[in-house]
Amino acid sequence: MADFSLNDDQQQLKDWIHQFAVDVIRPAAHEWDEAEEFPWPIVQEAAKVGLYGLDFIMNAMGDQTGLTLPVAIEEIFWGDAGIGMAIMGSGLAAAGISGNGTPEQVMEWVPQCYGTPDDVKVGAFCVSEPDAGSDVSNLRTRAVYDEAKDEWVLNGTKAWITNGGIANVHVVVAAVDPELKGRGQASFVVPPGTKGLSQGQKYKKHGIKASHTAEVVLDDVRVPGRCLLGGKEKLDAKLARARERGKSGEAQPAMKTFEATRPAVGAQALGIARAAYEYALDYAKERVAFGKPIVMHQAIAFKLANMATEIDAARLLIWRAAWLARNGGFKNGEGSMSKYKASEVAVRVTEEAIQILGGYGYTREYPVERWHRDAKIHTIFEGTSEIQQLVIARAISGMRVE
Ligand SMILES: Cc1cc2nc3c(=O)[nH]c(=O)nc-3n(C[C@H](O)[C@H](O)[C@H](O)COP(=O)(O)OP(=O)(O)OC[C@H]3O[C@@H](n4cnc5c(N)ncnc54)[C@H](O)[C@@H]3O)c2cc1C
Repeated sequence: MADFSLNDDQQQLKDWIHQFAVDVIRPAAHEWDEAEEFPWPIVQEAAKVGLYGLDFIMNAMGDQTGLTLPVAIEEIFWGDAGIGMAIMGSGLAAAGISGNGTPEQVMEWVPQCYGTPDDVKVGAFCVSEPDAGSDVSNLRTRAVYDEAKDEWVLNGTKAWITNGGIANVHVVVAAVDPELKGRGQASFVVPPGTKGLSQGQKYKKHGIKASHTAEVVLDDVRVPGRCLLGGKEKLDAKLARARERGKSGEAQPAMKTFEATRPAVGAQALGIARAAYEYALDYAKERVAFGKPIVMHQAIAFKLANMATEIDAARLLIWRAAWLARNGGFKNGEGSMSKYKASEVAVRVTEEAIQILGGYGYTREYPVERWHRDAKIHTIFEGTSEIQQLVIARAISGMRVE
């Protein structure tokens, strides 16, 4: 049975990260949002204290209750979501390698997604393309095997890639057999300094501006055979099965990674929502209108009551999904439910926070407008809200809802 009381280690970790968020992340948030630059000094500081790096991620992933990671992420994103993405973005590449790679590949490549505290690196997970975001079965990026050299040749353009072009390790999902759609795809590691990989345009974004998002262009990128995650034998067997069974083959690699990381993405949104709620509550107790603190007006008090309720509901769904991911797996799209609920709650709660702060809330002097901008990405990336509903609908109905 799931037990949602945090153990001593988890409580200590939560307090420690919260303090880091108070002391380091939040004071830097405004500056990096305005600069729209990757906050290397903050990520380096996180690495020095042990919050960014392989050990931290391994420790969090190794926890059997599943709660350590969402608890940690909520605190980091409570500090700031743009900086939070800069700290957590490499986790998607690490998850892509861990989810599809052999133990040897995991040992070789995951550490290189993080570097060391003295030489911090980042990783990128490259799936989306200009014409394939939600529909990841439709990737145009091709991977062709050059048997004579035991090399794979990658060609294509990836869009919207977190850490794209600035990463040490790029994990690229490409079509090996486009006819097979998602079941004909494989994941490849592109090692540091590989020729032919370059950064395309860097996007100017609505929110999480401190996080780097860019196109990744792959122009005859050659990687050794050992960079195919899972190995050639496993891929050949998978392709043969897919050709035999058609649509009933196993899930595509990108989808597997996204499924596993959904509660963590929900926890990001939750951190932003909680930040906005706490700020709005404090403000409502101080701000006086019509002779009393605005929290004494029921319209404002009820907003805050709804915000608190929705945040707790989102957290319970996230913790349940995180627990299930380690203990039996999802049955009714619980991972998607958690991400869907938390993202929508974050958008709504941050909007209500702006409302509670009135005109001040609409200015960049106060953080709530930034939190609203930052929250919005969560209904879009790693599966839009509509795609989460599709996953849930398919899980509960057993039908291929389109
Ligand atoms: C800041 C940022 C960071 C990102 N980081 C990464 C990253 O690191 N790696 C990566 O691979 N990708 C990344 N992405 C890409 C992201 O995952 C995609 O943008 C997202 O999946 C949506 O794809 P799309 O933009 O092509 O929208 P589309 O798929 O074109 O969707 C447009 C609209 O149509 C709806 N829609 C589409 N299909 C259906 C359907 N079947 N039923 C109902 N509605 C549907 C969608 O919900 C959406 O509302 C990032 C994006 C952003 C903005």
